[in-house]
Amino acid sequence: MTVKLKIIKTIAQLRECVDAWRSGGDRIVLVPTMGALHEGHLSLVKMARDKGDRTVVSIFVNPAQFAPNEDFGSYPREHDEDLQKLTSLGVDLVFMPPREEVYPQDFSTHVEVQGLSEGLCGVSRPHFFGGVATVVAKLLNQCRPDVAIFGEKDYQQLLVIRRMARDLDMDVEILGGPLIREGDGLAMSSRNAYLSPQEREKAPLLHQTISELAEQLANGGSIAELCETAAKRLALAGFEVDYLEVRNADNLAPVTTHTGEPARVFAAAMLGKTRLIDNVAVPDRKK
Ligand code: AMP
Repeated sequence: MTVKLKIIKTIAQLRECVDAWRSGGDRIVLVPTMGALHEGHLSLVKMARDKGDRTVVSIFVNPAQFAPNEDFGSYPREHDEDLQKLTSLGVDLVFMPPREEVYPQDFSTHVEVQGLSEGLCGVSRPHFFGGVATVVAKLLNQCRPDVAIFGEKDYQQLLVIRRMARDLDMDVEILGGPLIREGDGLAMSSRNAYLSPQEREKAPLLHQTISELAEQLANGGSIAELCETAAKRLALAGFEVDYLEVRNADNLAPVTTHTGEPARVFAAAMLGKTRLIDNVAVPDRKK
């Protein structure tokens, strides 16, 4: 049986539809996105289908998470293609609100998750996590899903949202889905479309460098020195490294010595005008 995809633009219609499903006993799963959907997004949608009875995908390019000098205006918008992909995956509802529906003129509230938002991407993008937390809090209130799914591609964002949901007593389970990569290792991202052919060829070096670093870290050695060497390798190849750090996978505290705690390597770098981010787990040699 093919179910027709509902395309909804207002909060009132979203609530009406989701409330009806909920009163029928359905478990509702939300996947928030900014559209220009690729296999990374679609993997979360597939996961959503397995976790519940009704899958809701939101597509909203959230102005609050872009600084004035960033790419809000040029961010890829591919609604027709997105809707085709979601239809073929059997999604029940796509929520695509216009900007005024989300941010009415006198909108005045801002959600800030302290601590977790402050390092890594929070340094060069200080507006970013507040903008994300605010819009995700709104989406969770608008849809009231049982489960919401976010990708480990944006690992810091996943932890920020999980903390926000816990701190604000939101009755939702926040799940993370694995990072999906291109065949050559580049983390899939809507922004990869900005890369020139030459940059696209070079881009997988980010993943290669942090993966090799993670292996070296698992074998011991100075964390600071290994990170510095890896950052130099990227800089020599033409990346402008924003950060390359090892952090605790649960709370993002800096990891400076080998204590056996769960650790991840996090990196962000500009390649030309494109900002790439990536992260990998440091293998646990004890296992
Ligand atoms: P975005 O549209 O970039 O805001 O991403 C929407 C959701 O998809 C977020 O939870 C992202 O973490 C997730 N996502 C983006 N790229 C990937 C990827 N390559 N693998 C897994 N999840 C991803």
